[in-house]
Amino acid sequence: MDLGNGVNKAQQTDVSEQIEQRRKPTKAQAEEAVKVLLEWIGEDPLREGLHETPSRVVKAWSEYTVGYASDPVTILTKTFENPEGYSEAVVLRDISFVSHCEHHMAPITGFADVAYIPSGRVVGISKIARIVECFARRLQTQETMTAQIANCIHDNLMPIGTAVRTRATHACMTNRGVCKAGTLLTATAFRGEFENNLTLKSQFLSAQI
Ligand SMILES: [Zn+2]
Repeated sequence: MDLGNGVNKAQQTDVSEQIEQRRKPTKAQAEEAVKVLLEWIGEDPLREGLHETPSRVVKAWSEYTVGYASDPVTILTKTFENPEGYSEAVVLRDISFVSHCEHHMAPITGFADVAYIPSGRVVGISKIARIVECFARRLQTQETMTAQIANCIHDNLMPIGTAVRTRATHACMTNRGVCKAGTLLTATAFRGEFENNLTLKSQFLSAQI
């Protein structure tokens, strides 16, 4: 397709990909950045205890953010028949997660409660935990992550209702800044029947279901 400036769409995509590739630093560059940070805090990155730290930090960050490489829609592709017509809420509580806040790159550590009311097929319960992992292992705000989990389940499983509650501590608030240890942030997201039915919502929030 001619875009009117002599560049066709295929060529433009090619250029975008090249820019994208240029922008992604190499592992060596990422390690160098960690070394600079160590120097900036007054450390000697060459001393024995630190000389492998940049490579460890880069490896750790690839684990903290592995969710970017995970496709949540694929996780929910495999579902099971529900021959007996189970139509009550399926509830998973206390799914642990560790995320990192997008403002300070500091840990957000907490638990997620997830519920859905199947409209037809059901999904393996480990897949719900995988969805939590997929969104947690990115740079996040807790509010965004909570909404993403609810939207993903609601849009892909198409249940009658979906509810998500996360409770977490933010190291950027407990270990720095205002330094309030133990402060818990709760975020909720309700879709479908959970949004409309106050009894159901309150049963979910008070752990009666
Ligand atoms: Zn933060």
